[in-house]
Amino acid sequence: MERETLEVDVLVVGAGPAGLAFAIDLARRLQDAGEEKSILVLDKAEEIGHHSLSGAVMDPRGVLALFPDARERGFPVQAEVREDALFLLRENGRRRLAGALLPPPFRNHGNWIVSLNEVVKWLAGQAEALGVEVYPGFAGAEILRGEDGRVAGVRTVDQGRGRDGEPKANFQPGMDVRADLTVFAEGTRGSLTKRLIAEEGLAEGRNPQLWGVGIKELWQLPEAAAGRMEGVVWHTAGWPLARSEYGGGWIYGLPDNRLSLGFVVGMDHGDPGFDYHATMQRWKTHPLLRELLVGGKLLRYGAKTVPEGGWFSLPRCHGAGFLILGDAAGFMNAQRLKGIHLAIESGLAGAETAAAALAAGDTGADRLAGFDEAFRRRPGHAELWRSRNFRQGFQRGFLRGAVRAGLDQLLGGRLPGRLPAESDHARYRRGLPPRPKPAFDNELAFDKLTSVFHSDTTHEEDQPCHLVVRDPDLCRERCTAEYGNPCQHFCPAGVYEWHDGEGLSINASNCVHCKTCDIADPYQIIDWVVPEGGGPVYTGM
Ligand code: SF4
Repeated sequence: MERETLEVDVLVVGAGPAGLAFAIDLARRLQDAGEEKSILVLDKAEEIGHHSLSGAVMDPRGVLALFPDARERGFPVQAEVREDALFLLRENGRRRLAGALLPPPFRNHGNWIVSLNEVVKWLAGQAEALGVEVYPGFAGAEILRGEDGRVAGVRTVDQGRGRDGEPKANFQPGMDVRADLTVFAEGTRGSLTKRLIAEEGLAEGRNPQLWGVGIKELWQLPEAAAGRMEGVVWHTAGWPLARSEYGGGWIYGLPDNRLSLGFVVGMDHGDPGFDYHATMQRWKTHPLLRELLVGGKLLRYGAKTVPEGGWFSLPRCHGAGFLILGDAAGFMNAQRLKGIHLAIESGLAGAETAAAALAAGDTGADRLAGFDEAFRRRPGHAELWRSRNFRQGFQRGFLRGAVRAGLDQLLGGRLPGRLPAESDHARYRRGLPPRPKPAFDNELAFDKLTSVFHSDTTHEEDQPCHLVVRDPDLCRERCTAEYGNPCQHFCPAGVYEWHDGEGLSINASNCVHCKTCDIADPYQIIDWVVPEGGGPVYTGM
């Protein structure tokens, strides 16, 4: 089979905030040094931003480091924060904390409410203006290695294979993109990054990554609410989660009488019957949400995993011929519920490292190890270090976690030690009673198929299944008895269906690329690999 080969100096896999910030800063540094190098950014989405979803209240620190005049250049801010509060929810009650009572991580004055979809489109435009090539619709499927074993680029996914894997009439082999430096900025649980971390032993000696699953909806509010919510940033804790479960909700007021709603739950709850989608739907039936939403309209739906483990869960982010940036590595601060600014700062540290490496003509492991020092000089390092024991503290119970986090906050992160963490999937318990699903009234609470419809997800049906279950017999022979096949519950798009007597069916065309299954499966036998195209369309998300 003849494959096209493209040679570039620097290849970035993933056009999110980390990859694009890296490309912009590196392009500028090379221009300043009078060096001509080619930078190519690939993204699996068919249009830039289609797979980008976040809350999102953004700390502007990252983008202002990249563009001090970001606002003047038209950076897409949806609203500035004018009111923030935390609601402690009981089933039919609430307690509002604001002002001096609001815990510092929930104070958001000075931050910007944004749509990540719009942010990455804007960043991609800035990158292209600097001569960076940005190619959407090209998913990295394999890591290429040089003769010495170093990372040497990626192979993009083949197009036009049938369900059986055989080439169809429209078959086109993927392209080999070879580069001196390959930057993995694929976002949360990147499929190539996962392999790279395993192959290179990059997570040795680190805490396991801890994950959350975030479900987001965009709503049009009823006329009567016009002008009331814009710039409001509310978070909720408590109901419908049990005390042992980590997570909470967000309510962000957007222009044009729209609302960003979301609910994130840590994957370490231990319940194999936990359904992230159903939990979010139940949350919307609380009087606080009901009062806002009745008479409104669901516009969009999406889901995404969130790397919450923090500093001690970061893998080694460099090696021979590669860097790992942004969510792909885990640059996220769970305490502040923010990561876009850290993704950008990791991109800036990566660009500083890459520029020095390219100037020296050496992108080997020792040279790229300078990334650690470059990131330590960014404010994101101090921020992540202060909260280094935050998330895993909650694995010992919510109360203990909250007390420790509060004490650490008071002491400016000076409590010593490194709390260990247990992998999310290792915490499943057996024999728990099934969780009842909420009533889906299709006004406030929607079933999974209706929700997925609002993500505009499509995939070519006649292609190899991109959800690879490596040992299907195990599903039937052990998982049913031991855990009740959690995939049918945890997938927020209803992709996995378990039929007694028939086994597992996988509706891969509904997959919203959240990566939950790749992480949450108790036996770790599901591999999410890139499909030949398609996925969700997260316009405005
Ligand atoms: Fe998410 Fe996996 Fe379901 Fe796709 S199949 S929506 S990645 S849980």
